[in-house]
Amino acid sequence: MKIAQRVQNLNAGGSDGWELFTTARQMRADGVDVINLTVGEADTGTPAAILDAMHKAALSGATGYAPIAGLPELRDAIAARTQDRTGMRTTRDNVLVTPGGQAALYAAIAGTTDPGQHVLYIEPHFTSYPSTIRSLGAVPIGIGTDPENGFQPTATDITARIDGVRSRTLLINSPNNPTGAVYSTDTFDQIAQIARDHDLWLISDEVYETQVWRGQHISPRALTGMAPRTLVVNSLSKSHAMTGSRLGWVTGPSEMIAHLSELSNNTTFGVATFVQHAALWALQQGPSLEAEIAAPFGRRNALARHILEGHPSLRVLPSDGAMYVMLDIRETGLSGLDFARDLLRREAIAVMPGESFGPAAAGHIRLALTVEDRRLENALDRLCGFALRLAA
Ligand code: PLP
Repeated sequence: MKIAQRVQNLNAGGSDGWELFTTARQMRADGVDVINLTVGEADTGTPAAILDAMHKAALSGATGYAPIAGLPELRDAIAARTQDRTGMRTTRDNVLVTPGGQAALYAAIAGTTDPGQHVLYIEPHFTSYPSTIRSLGAVPIGIGTDPENGFQPTATDITARIDGVRSRTLLINSPNNPTGAVYSTDTFDQIAQIARDHDLWLISDEVYETQVWRGQHISPRALTGMAPRTLVVNSLSKSHAMTGSRLGWVTGPSEMIAHLSELSNNTTFGVATFVQHAALWALQQGPSLEAEIAAPFGRRNALARHILEGHPSLRVLPSDGAMYVMLDIRETGLSGLDFARDLLRREAIAVMPGESFGPAAAGHIRLALTVEDRRLENALDRLCGFALRLAA
């Protein structure tokens, strides 16, 4: 039987970039003590108190279908949190609850971009951006950024890739995975100006908003004239260590949210009711719980920079947010992929090759700071030794 092109060509003939993660998992299953710095999820797991709220909700009967757009009280809580943090008036009608940020991203692209139209996105990029765009029949257009410029996109580079009415949507992510870049006020002002001038939708992926170590998080939906053309993608995966619970949301104009709710009716059919109750409980704890969950990543960011800075063949790039640090390994003469493969084979340390995040990150590796501090320190010392031996 013939399989539809749509699902056959998601990675455009390349890989999904997760080879190292898969190999590391297999090595671990075979009994090797691999230090896994590939995947971005908190090593602590979901806080017990959130699980307790989930358990209680499930036992008290919250096991049936939920309203498709999300529990009204959860949508209210998300709206209030957004309004508090951004100053933008936000009500439940501006919020659609989804099973995780990835489903929010899918919905946002589906709502903004017809098949054949272009979605511009910034490289290096979260691994799934181009394939999610392709899965909807749209065309991914990557815009490179420069490590020397802190991986901040420039107006010149973005406008150079705009192709008239074919270009519908610009997708950005700050704080950024994989680079840790936190976009400056100036960068956001330029992005907003471009979106208004070229009548583009802006999708702002803010799943790392609670992890900012230097600078400040800006949500472009709050910039002048941007609310009618901006969809914010967010989730509790990183902010509340709830990756497995699959709880995210889209914030945007109410008319769009109504349509995306119809879309959910035909895709996800909503989010597990007891998970939504746990999410509501988690949000009711306010910013102190979020700060507690973010703290280890900030601490490890400083630790990693301390160990790696000054290495003769590794250059640690400034990472102002998120749970990652990027290393420029070009001095070793290896590609990011070869470096990562060798490091796994010789030192049983798994990292992501920069190439997984697009051509702009070639010759780099990304470290997820998702193992406990002593183990991270051990991995970084061994990584430094490995790079020194390569250079020798
Ligand atoms: N956006 C970015 C930038 C991410 O890094 C991730 C996950 O790593 C997601 C979206 C998806 O998050 P979720 O687990 O909520 O689906």
